[in-house]
Amino acid sequence: MRKPLIVGNWKMYQTTAQAVALVERLRALLAEIAGVDVVVCPPFTAIQVVAETLQGSRIVLGAQNMHWEGEGAYTGEVSPVMLTDLGCHYVILGHSERRQYFGETDLNINRKVRAALRHHLAPILCVGETFAEREEGRTFPVVEGQLRGGLSDIPPQAGEGTVVAYEPVWAIGTGHTATPEQAATVHAFIRKQLGELWGEAAGLAVRILYGGSVKPDNIDALMAEPDIDGVLVGGASLKPDAFARIVHFEKVHR
Ligand code: PEP
Repeated sequence: MRKPLIVGNWKMYQTTAQAVALVERLRALLAEIAGVDVVVCPPFTAIQVVAETLQGSRIVLGAQNMHWEGEGAYTGEVSPVMLTDLGCHYVILGHSERRQYFGETDLNINRKVRAALRHHLAPILCVGETFAEREEGRTFPVVEGQLRGGLSDIPPQAGEGTVVAYEPVWAIGTGHTATPEQAATVHAFIRKQLGELWGEAAGLAVRILYGGSVKPDNIDALMAEPDIDGVLVGGASLKPDAFARIVHFEKVHR
C-alpha cells in the first residue's frame, strides 16, 4: 500500500523571513496530519531556517536540485552531502524548468538520481511532455525516454525509495491542469514501464505523483485515481491555506 505524498516546490520564491512565516503557518494548519507524507522544498538559502522551524513537526524537508558529487570544485553547486547535513530527505530532480532553462539532460539527471539514492535522499524524478509533443502524439515515447534515461543503472531494490512525478510541461504554472483521466493514463503507462524495468513488485512500490496546476478545487478528483499517489505542487504550495487543503484531501476523502 503506497502512502500518499504531497510535495510543495517553492521554486525561487521566499526570503528567509518569508519562509519562516510560511512554514510556521503551515505547521499550525498541518499539526494533525496522519496517513500522508508532506514535504516542502524551499530554495537552498531557506532550507536551514525552515529545518529549524520544522523541528518536532511531521512535515519533511526536501530540496529542488543538487549536484551528483559529494563535494568538489563545482562553483555554485550544492551536493547531496550538504542537503542531508541540513536534514533533507527528498530532492526534486529533472524538473522541466531545469531541463528547459539550465540544459539538464537525462544523462546528468540519472547521475543525480543515483547520487541521491547513494546518499539516502529520495529522488523525485520529474518527467513530462510539452504541449507540442502531446499534440504530435509523442507523450508516451517522451515520458518513456525520460523515465528510462533517468532511472538507468538503478537496481530494483531502489524502487521503494524512488518517487516519479508526471508533470506535463503544458500544465505547469499555466492553470491548465491535466484532467484526472489524462493524468491517470500516463500514470498507468509509467507504472507499466517501471514494472518492465524493475519487475512488477518493485514497480508497484514506487509512488507516482502528478504535478501541474494542482489546486484545492482539483485535488480530490486527481487523488481519486488509483495510480495517482500524490501531487507535486508549485504555485499553490506558497499559499498555506491552499496547500493545507490539498494535504487534507486525505482526511475528507479516504
Ligand atoms: C511545479 O513546479 O512542479 C508545478 C507543478 O507548478 P504549478 O503547481 O505551479 O503548476
